[in-house]
Amino acid sequence: MLTQIKGLHHVTSLAADAQQNNAFFTKTLGLRRVKKTVNFDAPDVYHLYYGDEVGTPGSVMTYFPFPNAARGRPGIGEVGETGFAVPKGALPYWQERLERLSVTGLAMDSDFGQARLRFDGPDGDGFALVETEDTRAPWTGSDVPEEAAIKGFSGARLRLRDADATGELLKFMGYEATDSTDGVQRFQLPGGNGADSIDLEVHAGANFSRPGAGSVHHIAFAVPDRAAQLDVRKALVDTGYAVTPVIDRDYFWAIYFRTPGNVLFEIATNEPGFDQDEDTAHLGEALRLPVQHEHLRPQLEAQLVPIAD
Ligand code: ZN
Repeated sequence: MLTQIKGLHHVTSLAADAQQNNAFFTKTLGLRRVKKTVNFDAPDVYHLYYGDEVGTPGSVMTYFPFPNAARGRPGIGEVGETGFAVPKGALPYWQERLERLSVTGLAMDSDFGQARLRFDGPDGDGFALVETEDTRAPWTGSDVPEEAAIKGFSGARLRLRDADATGELLKFMGYEATDSTDGVQRFQLPGGNGADSIDLEVHAGANFSRPGAGSVHHIAFAVPDRAAQLDVRKALVDTGYAVTPVIDRDYFWAIYFRTPGNVLFEIATNEPGFDQDEDTAHLGEALRLPVQHEHLRPQLEAQLVPIAD
């Protein structure tokens, strides 16, 4: 069993409109945009990162906004719900706020003993705010009061046709099966970074999802450094997984592999972090381009739709 994984690092999804996406995560949810860059593999598309003050791993929601992308079709083989951790007692504030801001899909319930407020993202993305005991410091630069602000992810819920093989994978990655209810199994990482629960929700007869706007593209798990990442990579390869080589994403190093349930997992390093090329005070303001695409700056700045701060 691996011990290097520390919880989620980031969640990356697809969107249809960069401005709407930016407004939802910075204004409605009160996260900080910590990086404005481009998709390294398709540099004519933004890659936007939202999180806490410095984009601490476990707090970072990221998007590829493809202009006018068609909506995804929900199904199995994907992340169905991404959870954000908020302090105990914060949900009535959020319910009022999200209603006032015309957010759809609002539903309050209790999930594994935790108060939960589900809501839709701008493209129908499945999200929830979950009340947790959590010592992480939220971003306080928005108009969301500190006593209600998002502290990072609580976890993610995968929709699968069958949970057995993915459950075995999570145990191999260091997670423990802690609870189950109504066809959902909860796995938690002891000693994680707070973004430490993964739920497996089984829909035996369902169809596979069709990716599009509002779909999660992949979820990334955090490891401290490149040495730990190489250990994890070797262990996964030895177990039979097809894992990519290590890829430099400027703010972390990444490896990717597909799970038995067809969900794309990434293992990302906590180093060097989102403040490696910008002042913490101005994180996410300027368009940052990776070295290999810097020569495209004039055309990208003309082509990419401007985003308000
Ligand atoms: Zn990623």
